[in-house]
Order: sequence, then C-alpha cells, then structure tokens
Amino acid sequence: MIKRLLDMWPVYRQITGADWLGRGKAVQSKRSRTLKPRTEEADRVVHSVCPYCAVGCSQNVFVKDEKVIQIEGNPNSPVNRGRLCPKGSCSKQLVTGPQRENYVLYRPPYGTEWQRMDLDTAMDKVADRVLDARRRGWQDTDDQGRALRRTLGFAGLGGAALDNEENYLIKKLFTALGAIQIENQARI
Ligand code: SF4
Repeated sequence: MIKRLLDMWPVYRQITGADWLGRGKAVQSKRSRTLKPRTEEADRVVHSVCPYCAVGCSQNVFVKDEKVIQIEGNPNSPVNRGRLCPKGSCSKQLVTGPQRENYVLYRPPYGTEWQRMDLDTAMDKVADRVLDARRRGWQDTDDQGRALRRTLGFAGLGGAALDNEENYLIKKLFTALGAIQIENQARI
C-alpha cells in the first residue's frame, strides 16, 4: 500500500528509478502517459519545403482524409535535421488558415474588385506580358552600332524567401530572356 502511494510521487520515482534527471517516465502524469502524437493518425506523409525563408528547411507534411493535420521538420534532411524554427513550425496555419487564397485573383485595369481567374489563363497572361515588355524594351545595338542584344523592358527582383535553386533558375531564365536588371532583396 505504502509502496503504491510512493510510486504515485514523481520525486520518489525519480530517485528510485532509472530516470534520475526527471525528464522521462519518472515525471509522467497519468494523462501524459496516455497522450498520443497527433501525427500517429496520419494516412500518409508528404515531403515539402518550408516556404518562409531561403534556408529551405525540409518538412514532413502529415495528411489525413486528404487534409493537412500537421507539419514537422524532416529528420532526414541535411539542411534542418528534423528542426523547424518557430515560424516554420506554424506553416500549417499558412496552408489551412481561413485567409489562405486557393485561386488566382486578378484585378483588371480600373477595376475595383478582384476576380477569380483560372491558372492557365493567368499563366498565359503573364507570359504574354513578359514577351510584350521584352519586345518593347529590346535594344539590339547602341548608337554606335555595337551589339547589345538586351532588353530593359523588365527587371527581376527576388525575395529572401527564394532558395538557392530557385534563384539559380530565375537568374538563368531572365538572363536568357535578355534582361540585365536582375537583383535580389538580400543584396539591397
Ligand atoms: S522560416 Fe524557419 S523553418 Fe522555414 S526555412 Fe526558414 S529557418 Fe527553416
């Protein structure tokens, strides 16, 4: 009887058991013994990358009934080795929060309201405008006939959320299109 009563006392369990530092079983309450990780019920795990900054931490996205139920650091990633900073740890809110936009929105010239636009139409619109700006800003030669072959019609300004690979591809694309004004927020 006395032993059972003492066993209910965390300090007694800490002193007499293997958990001397009181970080494990010795200090578990009845409730904490029955807790289960919320990831346990996931149907599958999908790998992703944190969208918030250029560190590019790898994430495990836990999915149940086709809904995201938790996002955690991927322990197999050499970048973050299972960790996420407080911001990255909250990225589930970014995906599932009520303010999340799930559609492309477009506000036409002089329009006062945003309109939904399907992705294909939006992508075509962006491509058309890039090509048009490139053509209108094109400089083939300078005033002495020397070759320039460049456009001043558009510029690239990357944000700090872009990682190395994205910046590499953006620089390649913009340079191939003839742009010379290619910058990143991190350098300004
Ligand atoms: S915001 Fe945090 S978790 Fe996300 S990539 Fe940057 S350091 Fe990693």
